[in-house]
Amino acid sequence: MKYRKLGKTGMEAGIIGLGTEHLDGKDYEVVKETIDAAMEYGVNMMDVFMPGSDIRRKIGRAIEGNREKFLIQGHIGSTDINHQYDISRDLPTCKKYFENLLTDLGTDYIDFGMLFFIDSEQHFDEVFHSDIVRYAEELKRAGVIRGIGASSHNPVIAKKVVETGVVDLLMFSVNPAFDMIPAEVDALNYLSNAFDKSMMLEIDAKRLELYRTCDKLDIPITVMKTLGGGKLLSKEHTPFAEPLTVHQCIHYALTRPSVASVMVGCQSRKQIEGAVTYLSATSDDLDYTEAIRGMNSDFKGSCVYCNHCQPCPVGIDIAAVTKYLDIATMDASAVNKGVGQHYRELAAYGSDCIQCGSCESKCPFSVPVIENMGRAAAVFGV
Ligand code: SF4
Ligand code: SF4
Repeated sequence: MKYRKLGKTGMEAGIIGLGTEHLDGKDYEVVKETIDAAMEYGVNMMDVFMPGSDIRRKIGRAIEGNREKFLIQGHIGSTDINHQYDISRDLPTCKKYFENLLTDLGTDYIDFGMLFFIDSEQHFDEVFHSDIVRYAEELKRAGVIRGIGASSHNPVIAKKVVETGVVDLLMFSVNPAFDMIPAEVDALNYLSNAFDKSMMLEIDAKRLELYRTCDKLDIPITVMKTLGGGKLLSKEHTPFAEPLTVHQCIHYALTRPSVASVMVGCQSRKQIEGAVTYLSATSDDLDYTEAIRGMNSDFKGSCVYCNHCQPCPVGIDIAAVTKYLDIATMDASAVNKGVGQHYRELAAYGSDCIQCGSCESKCPFSVPVIENMGRAAAVFGV
């Protein structure tokens, strides 16, 4: 497993995480087999948003004696009133379900207490202008949660959430189809219908702004909806010229700025083993650029951080340099903060570019790399 730092929390997550939703309703043996396999392969990040006690208790039993091997995301506001998944912003109800989560899992702490499902201005107000956020802060002060997280599918609201300064981690829906729909479109609603290709013209600026803001603020992203509900893998439903593979979808998410871990929904040892084959895949297997390019031949000039342009003869990590440049372009003050520091930690800088042009001939998106390297050298001073 490869691990990435979770922002300022001091924790590190495996880049492949486990979404447990599909274990809901399964026999204990299936839950145990899946979690044992996750542990064996070093999968340590686990999302448990389901409100039902049955699945939570099975997970608790499966991790008994190994609690510290997992970083668990538990959600504040996920309920099953009327026996259906539901969102509650009623504090006593949120408390009851969150306390039950601890009891059901047989633990006295949750790594990330996630403010659940903040997709609209109304959701934002209900959580951040209420006792719900104070409850999360109290839990953190008391050490019941180690960090505060939030989940969202809306890039504009998610950006507002991370800018509150309250959250340590964001769980967000990331896949190439969602990234190409306008921020104003409800991603979940969009997913439940046939993908409308006409609105997918380029990577949406507000989504890019969210990723760059998280990177600037050092807030890690854990990813849900990586496969677009499976539609991106299907010839019939994909909006792209060809279906993507699981590896390509995971790689797309992991190459977005600030993404730390992709939560893959697994319900067997075999599926865990399938997910971790990402780690040994070849760069050709991971390359998603053809699929995205097939979408729109006018999609040009903007770096998607895919690294298709490698190798660079002087060892410049072109995607990383461009990413830091994009963040500094969005906010000049970032140059003297974490982003500038990350840039200076790279093995080679924009100023090392010898203008050989090899990258530009390989970039599927006609990105002016040489110009960008020059701009990066000017902005960061090296
Ligand atoms: S310059 Fe082009 S090939 Fe290189 S990372 Fe950016 S989009 Fe990918
Ligand atoms: S043009 Fe510059 S960045 Fe591109 S491959 Fe050559 S040296 Fe590397």
